[in-house]
Amino acid sequence: MRLDDSIINIKGVGEKTAKSFNSLGIETIRDLITYYPRSYKMYTKPVSISETAEGDRVAVLCRIVTYVEVRKGRRYTITGLSASDSTGSIRMVWFNMPFLKNTFHRGETYVFFGIIKYKGNMRVMEMPEFFTQMNYERTMSTMQPVYHLKSGITNNSITRAIRSVSEAFSCVPEYLPDDVVREKGLMSRRDALRQIHFPENEETLKAAISRIAFDEFLEFLIKIRVLRENSVSEISSHVITREAEVKKDAFISGLPFSLTEGQTAAVNDIIKDMSSGYVMNRLIQGDVGSGKTIIAAISLLANCISGYQGALMVPTEVLAVQHYNDLCKLFKPYKIKVRLLTGSMTVKEKREVYEEIKTGSCDIVIGTHAIIQDKLEYKDLGLVITDEQHRFGVKQRQRLEEKGDSPHVLVMSATPIPRTLAIILYADMDISVIKELPVGRKRIKNCVVGTDYRPSAYKFIRGQIAEGHQAYVICPMVEDSDASELENVTDYADELSAQLGDNIRVAFLHGRMKESEKNEILQDFISGNTDVLVSTTVIEVGINNPNATVMMIENAERFGLAELHQLRGRVGRGDAQSYAIFINVKKSKESTERLKVLENSNDGFYIASEDLRLRGPGDFFGIRQSGDMDFKLADIYNHADMLRLAQDISIEYGKELPGKISL
Ligand code: ADP
Ligand code: MG
Repeated sequence: MRLDDSIINIKGVGEKTAKSFNSLGIETIRDLITYYPRSYKMYTKPVSISETAEGDRVAVLCRIVTYVEVRKGRRYTITGLSASDSTGSIRMVWFNMPFLKNTFHRGETYVFFGIIKYKGNMRVMEMPEFFTQMNYERTMSTMQPVYHLKSGITNNSITRAIRSVSEAFSCVPEYLPDDVVREKGLMSRRDALRQIHFPENEETLKAAISRIAFDEFLEFLIKIRVLRENSVSEISSHVITREAEVKKDAFISGLPFSLTEGQTAAVNDIIKDMSSGYVMNRLIQGDVGSGKTIIAAISLLANCISGYQGALMVPTEVLAVQHYNDLCKLFKPYKIKVRLLTGSMTVKEKREVYEEIKTGSCDIVIGTHAIIQDKLEYKDLGLVITDEQHRFGVKQRQRLEEKGDSPHVLVMSATPIPRTLAIILYADMDISVIKELPVGRKRIKNCVVGTDYRPSAYKFIRGQIAEGHQAYVICPMVEDSDASELENVTDYADELSAQLGDNIRVAFLHGRMKESEKNEILQDFISGNTDVLVSTTVIEVGINNPNATVMMIENAERFGLAELHQLRGRVGRGDAQSYAIFINVKKSKESTERLKVLENSNDGFYIASEDLRLRGPGDFFGIRQSGDMDFKLADIYNHADMLRLAQDISIEYGKELPGKISL
């Protein structure tokens, strides 16, 4: 068995299963064994019923005290029973599983495993798993991998496939010398891959994750190293002219606000870089709302007046449109032609823009990864900027750079990476940090509340709208697996609209809409034609509507802290006092404590570090902090020690390793 073999060679994987695996990006055995679990299910020791609280995922050992009832509900058949132990009783409910009637009998004892909910005073578990006491004891000491799934694939089918290729693990080569592996206390690569799927215990799992994180970091650092060797002290043919410098100063003086200290310093760094005769490679790091867009604008202006083209790449089409509109407004007094280029434009429209970029009649192009298409040729690209860099991989950034003849490179990111780590991760770049928010910004007022606060929240939103402001309301993403649990965006918007009354205009937005439709809805919101925007997290990055003063987030407990911080960053972008309302639906102890962090702080760095501290045991992957750097599993906060180790190894063995690390 070889890692390159197709999964169709696996016993028990037929054509149909192979197809569904393909849809997850799994084609070969290599893909399969590097398809890491997203979490692990730990069957914990049973607890007494009275000890359990809402939201807890627990096992309870109890005796069935009623007959099993099967009832036809509106949407489901509901099978229910009551069970109790010496401390209390609990109701178990299953949907569309009427056959369970024959499984359970009054008087029998089972272990039920699931999440505790409260219905009135009654504890309820919906769709619990159940075990005989003996079976449970056997399962209890193991950790079961939980994989990301798509329809047509079960967790079991993935687990089974990986089990049946277990000999493939022995084909995994070790690229590090044995003594280094030993000396640094790393797990072997082979064992790490095996343990990540089927951990023996928490400790081996931790070691496995560390090892894989190490490999990911090292591979990344080696790539960066090559980048840097190619770019350091590269002579630039694009130099900012004196005229451009003067005009840039005039542009800054003409802005309706003065730049913050951090912004001014960043602009100075950039202009200095771009005048030096060498190629600029600079990262601008600044928290949400610190004002990074204007820095992009100033740089593009100076570059353009000096006679070169500029490109600005952003992760979403919606954000591209917004930046396009902003820059068109800012550059109105200048003879600068700004163009938009996105995936959803027609072929004809795109061709027109391609032509203008090629002939040089277009000065600045703003777009999604559409601006790095092979077909696209620039006349004289002097500056490329990527906004929200953490959403892109290094590869995409590189491709944009390759579009020109050594253009200057500016990347902007809101990811709060501590400086010591940033220096390692962005070894190929210089870094400017914007520490402060613009003056006059009022600190966002936060509150974490339960669902019973909803009516007050709506009333509050009504009040803000009456004062001429606008509001966002975030619904969680609709996931097929548990759609019934979630507030569906459209239903929610209807309901909200009914609650708020006729004269408040509610619009909604979700990821499955066409881009053009999304853009329209967002534009309507930004220009004030709608009052409330109900949305999924598609608005997480970049969107700027300074008139919006309320961000209400439903099911806040379902999101990561970093994501919530980004979402909250959509308000507090103007002079008016802004508010964030986090609705904590499943008030578990953990979610309450996590959300408290947001309530008490608006500082991205602090939030990232608290997030790390609060991750529970078994919560190995925590919350994906960012899509940063394409790591599958490594987390720069969680595995900072591995990042440093990878840095040391890359310095020592860097020359020998390129090409050897990836499986
Ligand atoms: P981010 O860093 O999150 O990308 P933006 O660039 O979108 O932030 O800026 C957020 C808002 O702050 C925008 O409305 C922008 O016009 C405004 N802004 C930027 N710089 C300043 C400043 N120095 N003073 C006042 N407002 C500013
Ligand atoms: Mg931005």
